[in-house]
Amino acid sequence: MVHTRSGAGTEPLTLPDQLNVVASRGIQCPVCYERRSLCCMALARCGHGICIACAPNFFYHNFKANQAPSCPECRAEAAGDSGAPLYTYLYEPGFREAAVLMLRRLSDQ
Ligand SMILES: [Zn+2]
Ligand SMILES: [Zn+2]
Repeated sequence: MVHTRSGAGTEPLTLPDQLNVVASRGIQCPVCYERRSLCCMALARCGHGICIACAPNFFYHNFKANQAPSCPECRAEAAGDSGAPLYTYLYEPGFREAAVLMLRRLSDQ
């Protein structure tokens, strides 16, 4: 089980057992190829993500190129109309959904 810090307003990141097994192996960052814990990832809504060590640099390149942050794996960009940012971090809305999407994909491989 991947537990997050408990406290007011934060839900533990509870996942189905099968996905916990996948999460426990760590997630490989597509930028630095390090295996990271799920909690150390910025997750994109497409179900991909990059680690929080790489995220600032990566987003800065997008910023300098005057582009919205995109996914390095599938080139998904922030959903236009909703204005929701592509990436979510732990404790943010949408993180669990992105985590489930990512872990399902990894468990199918
Ligand atoms: Zn990385
Ligand atoms: Zn993607």
